[in-house]
Amino acid sequence: MSVEITGREAEGTKWDLVVIGSGTAGADAAVRAAQLGGLKVLLIEKNRDRLGGTCVNVGCVPTKKLLYIADHYHELSKYLQ
Ligand SMILES: Cc1cc2nc3c(=O)[nH]c(=O)nc-3n(C[C@H](O)[C@H](O)[C@H](O)COP(=O)(O)OP(=O)(O)OC[C@H]3O[C@@H](n4cnc5c(N)ncnc54)[C@H](O)[C@@H]3O)c2cc1C
Repeated sequence: MSVEITGREAEGTKWDLVVIGSGTAGADAAVRAAQLGGLKVLLIEKNRDRLGGTCVNVGCVPTKKLLYIADHYHELSKYLQ
């Protein structure tokens, strides 16, 4: 289970593991520690609007979506001439 808490709330709790950054590495480490290790994990992300880091927001996912759209546009453009 995950819940979003404020910094002040986090201060008063004891954590088994603190992970900084919710990118591919941090999210994976936090989820695995919590699910497989049963640890109480605090995941800290400085950028509230970009949870998931580079891969989800500007890297792998958007890039592949752009390539997918460009590929389809290229195919369809053959029929538009
Ligand atoms: C255009 C592009 C395309 C890509 N395509 C692919 C692909 O197809 N396949 C692939 O495997 N990889 C791809 N990558 C690489 C992939 O995005 C990175 O390898 C991956 O995101 C690295 O993850 P990370 O967790 O190390 O860092 P990041 O994803 O950068 O995450 C770091 C996180 O930590 C946070 N943070 C930083 N400092 C602090 C702090 N002091 N306190 C709190 N939070 C903090 C940041 O806000 C960020 O959310 C691509 C990258 C780019 C730029």
